[in-house]
Amino acid sequence: MDKYQSYTLRNFREIPQINDHLTEEERFDIEVVGNVLPFKANNYVVEQLIDWDNYKKDPIYILTFPQRDMLEPQHYEEMARALRGGARKPELKLIANKIRMELNPHPAGQLSHNVPKVEDTELTGVQHKYRETMLFFPSQGQTCHAYCTFCFRWPQFVGMNELKFAMRDTELIIKYLRANPRVTDILFTGGDPLIMKTKILKSYIEALIDAKIPNLRTIRFGTKALGYWPQRFTQDADADELLQLFEKARKAGIHIAFMAHFNHPAEMRTDEVKKAIGRVLNAGAVIRTQSPVMRNINDNPAAWAEMWQEQVELGCVPYYMFVARDTGAQDYFAVELERAWRIFRNAYQRVSGVARTVRGPSMSAGPGKVQILGVSEVAGEKVFTLQFLQGRNPDWVARPFFAKYNPDAIWLDDLYPAFGASQFFFEEEYPIHREQAALHKGAAKSLAVS
Ligand SMILES: *Cc1c(COP(=O)(O)O)cnc(C)c1O
Ligand code: SF4
Repeated sequence: MDKYQSYTLRNFREIPQINDHLTEEERFDIEVVGNVLPFKANNYVVEQLIDWDNYKKDPIYILTFPQRDMLEPQHYEEMARALRGGARKPELKLIANKIRMELNPHPAGQLSHNVPKVEDTELTGVQHKYRETMLFFPSQGQTCHAYCTFCFRWPQFVGMNELKFAMRDTELIIKYLRANPRVTDILFTGGDPLIMKTKILKSYIEALIDAKIPNLRTIRFGTKALGYWPQRFTQDADADELLQLFEKARKAGIHIAFMAHFNHPAEMRTDEVKKAIGRVLNAGAVIRTQSPVMRNINDNPAAWAEMWQEQVELGCVPYYMFVARDTGAQDYFAVELERAWRIFRNAYQRVSGVARTVRGPSMSAGPGKVQILGVSEVAGEKVFTLQFLQGRNPDWVARPFFAKYNPDAIWLDDLYPAFGASQFFFEEEYPIHREQAALHKGAAKSLAVS
């Protein structure tokens, strides 16, 4: 029986592999960066996913342990100086929060734009952006079994309360679902909702089942538990009860869907994850998989092709490849849009049709999920061809549109309309704020494009 052991800044120096392999300087780097970006690992990740003989290049090591270059040099220095000077917690926190505010913690207008209302009460733990699917952030699910260094959800983990989404009231959600009959899906997200004990999760799910809402067809879980702690479905004391809960939902006619985050094929290889996937599927759930494409982690077609292939063999359905978001340590992870598309295309060509359920690369941007279909030449102009996979306005979906080719573009706000148009077709309804984005990314870099 594997017992969950969590590692944070407080105890990471006790990890035997950290003691054996890292220099003191590297341990200090973890401390400096880990004071700003969230850091948490566990015994499964450390013992079964990371190749410590090659840790500097190991994708799962980079995915979970903070790296010096994830902070700008001046931010790194500021925190390092404070730590060397023996600064105390409150002071470290002030410095960390100041740096975090400069890292665009809530991209794509998440905080302000998407909070719905029912009977004049704001559903603060809910986001409803795309017509069919509402997101729910249960307050007990705002953490994970381990933290990804690229994560854009990190304001939720580092105690910046004013930025936190969260809510308890299932009653309001049920009211909202009844009042919005076009919503078919509720997506539990976080953090990781499957960090919650089954007992708590059950109170939410059973309330939804018992409410018998005719339009509610699918309950989804955005989760990394299969990647970071598959024991959640095999060995944990309440694993069986969780699977029974899925079965119960299915019997009530509700489809249970995992949106499982897997970032690298290494996560598909352990016996524990294979067993966990088998048990979840056996309970009648479907597992769809997704990940961003990130420099230093999975920015090569072989990794993706292997990951999709493995997933399909295990019974999962490849679903989305995302572009890394414009927040946090983005300079460290960013992959240019053109390169992301080339990686996608090359990987997609390597797998058979059964794995080509995946779509991407896609940016979850303010107006919607925008897919890069490719780089083409139209009427003598080199362009990106794009389309919405999801749109704030459903009418935008699956309508190709064109942006001027820009080899350095890493996000939608780096793109300008092609063929002399003054704006993209959707900008009348939802303009892109390029100036703001440029300020954020360092004006010189982004403005050079126009
Ligand atoms: C991705 C996403 C969804 C779900 O989209 P699907 O394409 O249906 O998987 C829902 N809401 C938000 C805000 C999203 O980003
Ligand atoms: S598992 Fe998901 S929510 Fe948790 S740290 Fe990783 S990316 Fe963020």
